[in-house]
Amino acid sequence: MKKLNLLLSLPLFAISFIVSAQPSDKAKEIASQIVKEANENSQLENLAHELLDVIGPRLVGTPQMKKANDWAVAKYSDWGISAKNEEWGKWRGWERGITHVDLVSPRVVSLSGMQLAWSPSTDKKGITSELVLIPDVADSLAFSKWLPNVKGKIVMVSMHQLTGRPDYNWEEFATEASFEKMKNERDAHTKAWRERIRKTGYTSRTINAALEKAGAIGIVQSRWSRAFGANKIFSANTKKIPVVDLSLEDYGMLYRMVENGDKPIIKVVAESKELGTVPTFNTIAEIKGSELPNEYVILSAHFDSWDGATGATDNGTGTITMMEAMRILKKVYPNPKRTILVGLWGSEEQGLNGSRAFVEDHPDIVEGVQALFNQDNGTGRVVRLSGQGFLNAYDYLGKWLEAVPKEITDEIETTFPGVPGGGGSDYASFVAAGAPAFSLSSLSWSYWNYTWHTNLDTYDKIVFDDVRNNAILTAILAYMASEAPEKTSRTKSVLPLNSRTGEQRTWPTPRSPQRDGGKLD
Ligand SMILES: [Zn+2]
Repeated sequence: MKKLNLLLSLPLFAISFIVSAQPSDKAKEIASQIVKEANENSQLENLAHELLDVIGPRLVGTPQMKKANDWAVAKYSDWGISAKNEEWGKWRGWERGITHVDLVSPRVVSLSGMQLAWSPSTDKKGITSELVLIPDVADSLAFSKWLPNVKGKIVMVSMHQLTGRPDYNWEEFATEASFEKMKNERDAHTKAWRERIRKTGYTSRTINAALEKAGAIGIVQSRWSRAFGANKIFSANTKKIPVVDLSLEDYGMLYRMVENGDKPIIKVVAESKELGTVPTFNTIAEIKGSELPNEYVILSAHFDSWDGATGATDNGTGTITMMEAMRILKKVYPNPKRTILVGLWGSEEQGLNGSRAFVEDHPDIVEGVQALFNQDNGTGRVVRLSGQGFLNAYDYLGKWLEAVPKEITDEIETTFPGVPGGGGSDYASFVAAGAPAFSLSSLSWSYWNYTWHTNLDTYDKIVFDDVRNNAILTAILAYMASEAPEKTSRTKSVLPLNSRTGEQRTWPTPRSPQRDGGKLD
């Protein structure tokens, strides 16, 4: 009697939710088959090895990117899934060659570093020169007067770090006073460096081109990522002279030598090939829907990467999660109600270009999207899921999650309706077009400092148990979305006011991709 009263006192919608949230026996059976296939016949390790170790990084416009596209199509074909590479634009073709940096005077030692993406090539003999620091001048006029000093020299353009230890290491071992002192010194040092660059009249982005124009023969930088051994490796921004990134340790040593008048001389060999303009692709695979082929469940991950390492967690792990989920679905759910499509997008790193092009080129598919699941923030298990501002997202996502094993959903913090993502990864391209697209957001595993766009983003950083967890989650959500009785609602919630400006927030709108990128002007 007491129990009945309690039930009756619940609002009606709550009861109906509880009843309808129970997954059917069929759903439970499919979910358990997905878990079994993922755990007993995992292909994740093989996929990661072939993609990351053998093919390597996937910078847009490189032959390795195209190799990866072709590899994925072949994998899907092996699994009986139809797939193709869809050209969406062109990019500057470039291929990384050997980088070798040595200190040749006052003593000889090989230095640890690599050329940046799209760095112009040296010849085989390389360049050998003394090093020059950016001077502390009064203003941009004084800097222009100084600039001719770089002629024929290699210029060091980064601040040197006062400590090569990350903060967590200081926190563990330093006295409190010494940690505080270091942080104060570092703040002052960083502020002074910013001021030094500002006074040149250039920014850290534009100064390379100015140095090149003034006759420098090479540029050395060090973009430390605040983690032992980790540097960010982005692009060169020069037309003819090479740009190399050196480890914090080697850069600091050279910097101190120059400051102390030791006149270090280094030799840089940085070979690369310009390959003209090349086509660039998204890899698209699909299993056609048997009842509603024009409605789509999309598994989404960007396929490209930066090339300081092999793009293992950005976004090798998202890529293999979606490929593995698709392989499993083909095996346990070969005749889906709706079409299941995997999009492995090109050139996310330069501005979501592949997915924006897909949205622009396929309005029919975007219109038919039942749900899209994107994963792109590292190797960790999924711990956050937002409704992206769609008013009724809770109704369907909540229901679908009920079919996922509790040990997976227990880790996930959901936010409904949430706010729409304006960028960050490819789901945003679809949200901007009004399609219910969601981000499977991962636990960080020190992503931002250690692996994101660094020289350390390699196979060994993958936590395969977490990636397997994500493949299971993705496959079950895709199955539930495909089988759902109704098409999902796209009703948008009214967004909250921007707390900073007090103005009404607005929904993002679609943006066009860059379809002819990387050109030297
Ligand atoms: Zn990414």
